[in-house]
Amino acid sequence: MNPSEILSEVAEQVAVCEKCELHFSRKRAVPGEGPVNAEIMFIGEGPGFYENEQGRPFVGQAGKLLEDLLAAIHLKRTDVFITNVVKCRPPGNRDPLPEELAACADYLDRQIEAIGPRLLVTLGRYSMAKFLPNAKISDVHGQATWVRGRLVMPMYHPAAALHQPSLKPALEKDFMRLPEFIQQARNSHQAARQPEKMDEPEKPPEKTKDEPTQLSLF
Ligand code: URA
Ligand code: SF4
Repeated sequence: MNPSEILSEVAEQVAVCEKCELHFSRKRAVPGEGPVNAEIMFIGEGPGFYENEQGRPFVGQAGKLLEDLLAAIHLKRTDVFITNVVKCRPPGNRDPLPEELAACADYLDRQIEAIGPRLLVTLGRYSMAKFLPNAKISDVHGQATWVRGRLVMPMYHPAAALHQPSLKPALEKDFMRLPEFIQQARNSHQAARQPEKMDEPEKPPEKTKDEPTQLSLF
């Protein structure tokens, strides 16, 4: 299966999934959306009221803020992949339970595998915990860390910044660092891929005239 077939398969499966209790409160599943070759994936918590109605992620107030933050770094929501750790709405927007997160994890894992984003941006505590289980969001937001070969940047959830306006400046500041982390991820992907691309054996780097010769100890 190619990556877009995998994304379609995930979307079809979550629409009828009964692996956890959240299917009882589902009107429409929200698999997520965006380009199959997106460099950035935003991972939120779970669908809210409007997402459940429309089957699309981040279409309510939090989504509006996400779009504004993206615009500040010259990106549109159609440039990025947007999804959640659970694909069905928790009743009354309660927090997802551990067993629901576990039941739904495979869908997100397959989406990440298919898209291969350079940067994963987690929005809020639940998606952060998937990658950084012991981290405290107030300590690590805005810092990018390599986790299982992917660059992960935790951020506050836009809805949290709407409820608690004191968090908004931090969210805005973290967003402004995104282009820098995307570049960092691009550079390291290139570095990692280079040896495969080369059809000649690797040459030692040429010495500059004031560089001392390295002596091998063995
Ligand atoms: N909040 C989320 O975490 N996800 C959505 O899709 C919408 C709001
Ligand atoms: Fe299935 Fe995930 Fe929906 Fe639970 S939340 S029913 S695991 S798709």
